[in-house]
Amino acid sequence: MRDYLGALLTMKILVAVKRVVDYNVKVRVKSDHSNVDIANVKMSMNPFDEIAVEEAVRLKEKGIAEDITVVSIGPAKCQETLRTALALGADQAIHVETDANLEPLAVAKCLKALVEREQVQLVILGKQAIDGDNNQTGQMLAALLDWPQATFASAVECQADKVAVTREIDGGLETLSLTLPAVITTDLRLNEPRYASLPNIMKAKKKPLNTIPVTELNIDVSPRLTTVKVEAPAERDAGIKLESVEQLVEKLKVEGLI
Ligand code: AMP
Repeated sequence: MRDYLGALLTMKILVAVKRVVDYNVKVRVKSDHSNVDIANVKMSMNPFDEIAVEEAVRLKEKGIAEDITVVSIGPAKCQETLRTALALGADQAIHVETDANLEPLAVAKCLKALVEREQVQLVILGKQAIDGDNNQTGQMLAALLDWPQATFASAVECQADKVAVTREIDGGLETLSLTLPAVITTDLRLNEPRYASLPNIMKAKKKPLNTIPVTELNIDVSPRLTTVKVEAPAERDAGIKLESVEQLVEKLKVEGLI
């Protein structure tokens, strides 16, 4: 029992937070169709990663976790995202700096290296980053670490060296019991993230934020994929207003829909 409690009280959590185009921004495709244009658009923490940070903070508030490290992999501006996570309650941050747009496998390899370096027992990630909608990084990380994984979590409960995760699946809910160490990815209904208070934003400026170049991790982050073309969705025709059900039926007949 004491071993269990000891393990729990020293549980370290790693949370991966990605800086993405804010979910309110309507992105435009570049004229050469090589990608979307993110010059001068508002960037924010990936919404599922805010949920991941919130869940880690709640586990710490319940006395289940002792320490939360947040990590972001990308250009210098990722530090703003990390400061937000620190203001929400994380203890320290690691910025893995690279100007390359790393694919999920490369991100998973970076995270694996940090998990081993930081000796964490639980990794929480978003189920997907809303820029690429890949939904791959958590699964790849669990595979590389050979750790149990629970994706699409809508409830998390830690009991001794196990964590029970309720998942949203097609037919309803499924609850899995994982033995720690483990990887969890968050779904939308897991929690409602708090807002950072002004005093906590000020305090976050003094929390440790360590920047390391991606080359220091000694891993192969070279791309495996080539983007052939990026296209905007087809424009939809404007709708029309009809006066009556009869008109609607007539219109549907004319269109050959009934
Ligand atoms: P994805 O597989 O790209 O949809 O991303 C799933 C999750 O992996 C995100 O919600 C983040 O938690 C994490 N992640 C992906 N890319 C990064 C990155 N560059 N830096 C930090 N975390 C990331």
